Amino acid sequence: MSTKIPAGLILGMCVLCSHEFRVLTAVNHSGDEEFWFAGREDIHPFLGISKLTYLLTLGWLVLGKSKDAWNTIVKSHAGIDLREFAQSSTCPNCFPSVVPSRSSKKTPQRDIDVDPPAKVQSLLIKSNGDAKRVLVSEKKSASEILKCADVEYFYDRENGVFVYYSLDAAQESELPNVYGSALCNSYIAGDCLVISDLDSGLNRRSEYMNLTDDWFDPAILKMIQRCNTDADARAFLQQHKP
Ligand SMILES: [Zn+2]
Repeated sequence: MSTKIPAGLILGMCVLCSHEFRVLTAVNHSGDEEFWFAGREDIHPFLGISKLTYLLTLGWLVLGKSKDAWNTIVKSHAGIDLREFAQSSTCPNCFPSVVPSRSSKKTPQRDIDVDPPAKVQSLLIKSNGDAKRVLVSEKKSASEILKCADVEYFYDRENGVFVYYSLDAAQESELPNVYGSALCNSYIAGDCLVISDLDSGLNRRSEYMNLTDDWFDPAILKMIQRCNTDADARAFLQQHKP
């Protein structure tokens, strides 16, 4: 029997069925649409949520499921089932929502450009909590933006993005990048840069592509600010510095 490594973010155990409650980014989901699903062989069911909600949930977990972060940033973006779990720790299997589990509403597909964009929208996440849209191009590369010679990257499969970071920053006394570390699931110090190679049809391309709007939503920028200035999260990372 092979061991399956569960995908997605584990939010906790359901108090009724003792199964892990997990969320995944779901393709073509927008706003607070959620979709509950479980394969026949799957012990653990999943809740599909929009990318923005996923990115916010990632931050919420980093902050130790902070009540304040939930109420001020995450809650208004969460759908019924995610809210229910945050409130009562019961999964939709045990406590189904009245809303139909699957919506047929589709996100309008944008046309894919034939030519790759010369400059692409990327997100710079600074360790001090600032985050902003930056343009990356062949001329202005990741290493130039991160102001370092030695750049490494992590490919975040869940979100289809590369997270570029400086290799020197970990050695130097740079502050840990809390949100960046959560994205990469390992210690990252200093600033990092999120670049996508997925087109609007979610196909991998050989060029850089524009990041989707979710990454620049004011809510996610607020969440990054909260995570990267959180003293507890920083201290935790510094203790576990490789
Ligand atoms: Zn349950």
